[in-house]
Amino acid sequence: MNVPKYYIWTIGCQMNKAESQRVADYLEVLGYKAAPVLQSADLVVLNTCVVRQSAESKVIGTLGYLKGVKYEKPDFSILVTGCFVDSDVKRLEHNFPQVDLFFKPGDYIGLRNWAKEKGIDILEDITSLSSAKNVAVSAFVPIIQGCNNFCSYCIVPYRLGRERSRPIEDVVREVTELVRRGAKEATLLGQNVNSYGHDLPSQPDLGTLLTELNCVEGLARIRFLTSHPKDVTQKFIRDIASLTNVCEYMNLPLQAGDNDVLKAMRRGYTVEQYRQLVGNIRNCISGIALGTDVIVGFPGESEEQFERTLAMLEDIRFDTVHVAAYSPRPNTIAARKYDDNVSPDTKKERLNKVETLQAKVAGDINSWLKGEKVEVLVEGNKSGKWYGRTRNNKLVFFESDADCLGQLVDVTITKTSPWALQA
Ligand code: SF4
Repeated sequence: MNVPKYYIWTIGCQMNKAESQRVADYLEVLGYKAAPVLQSADLVVLNTCVVRQSAESKVIGTLGYLKGVKYEKPDFSILVTGCFVDSDVKRLEHNFPQVDLFFKPGDYIGLRNWAKEKGIDILEDITSLSSAKNVAVSAFVPIIQGCNNFCSYCIVPYRLGRERSRPIEDVVREVTELVRRGAKEATLLGQNVNSYGHDLPSQPDLGTLLTELNCVEGLARIRFLTSHPKDVTQKFIRDIASLTNVCEYMNLPLQAGDNDVLKAMRRGYTVEQYRQLVGNIRNCISGIALGTDVIVGFPGESEEQFERTLAMLEDIRFDTVHVAAYSPRPNTIAARKYDDNVSPDTKKERLNKVETLQAKVAGDINSWLKGEKVEVLVEGNKSGKWYGRTRNNKLVFFESDADCLGQLVDVTITKTSPWALQA
């Protein structure tokens, strides 16, 4: 009998990549095997992102392509998950009749019901992760879905809804299972991990969850992503400073370095509060690396306001900066309230300025590591070189004849660049 094959098409953030891995696990429990390319699959899952217009257009384009595939192969199944799936599923079904199932991230019951209706034999309970398959050294684990913040430019709360935290026992069980299957590092994911737990009956916080995970045997490192600056408390900073397996890295999106722009973005903090927070974190956690996200060209952003953002980046000296040009998303507060009045050329120019500055800053920071001994968790081998990350999230490449996969190795840095280190 031919084993049915699946292919997962993923765009977007780490949350989506983690979710795709989980969907793959469940499909394997259902009896599917991975197809090397979409064309040889019987079922495709599109794991979608709509945070930017360009991403949404890509999803719609791919759905158009798949309509043709389905026309050629009527038994071909198309499943769609991710941020494209909002609460108006009827409208989606009407607009994209080629799709067999729209399901929200984490809705494996919907997936199981669909499989049952298709007459697929369910080999075991798909609500458990009992597959014997090995997993990557570094695993991603969603702990909270959705967001309550309604930053004025962001479509996420409209598409993913309000925050829903997974119970601590669920997360600990999943991480323990991933470690049994070979993972050495877990990165806890959420749109805002620092609001974890407030919706659960016992109202644990992220510090409580990290404390529990710190005791999981065999788990060498724990990371978390992303932290909203307004929700990072002094208690949390103290908690993570005391947990030996929690890595010294935090992504703390700044978005803008001007108070009026931050207010229009509805970010809930001022430049002064952000600076204070960075000072507190650096005082409590030695060697911590910080990443951030910045949006340029927000409606009405003047040259002076942009210069303030640039000055702040230069002053704080982040280890990594992800920069994006503002694009209006339907129904968001910013799209309803403000004109998208910064020209595309100006946005591009500002984006380039941030990238140029950051290459210089990261180059300087990393150059201090030359000659230093660092501990790397080895995640894989690319073109004959092993690669992995330091505790503070620096990517390191090195050569060795030994099988280093999954090992913690000490290496000495020989060459640096803004983006990676050689050892
Ligand atoms: S915190 Fe703001 S930017 Fe982040 S997901 Fe929530 S609404 Fe969007």
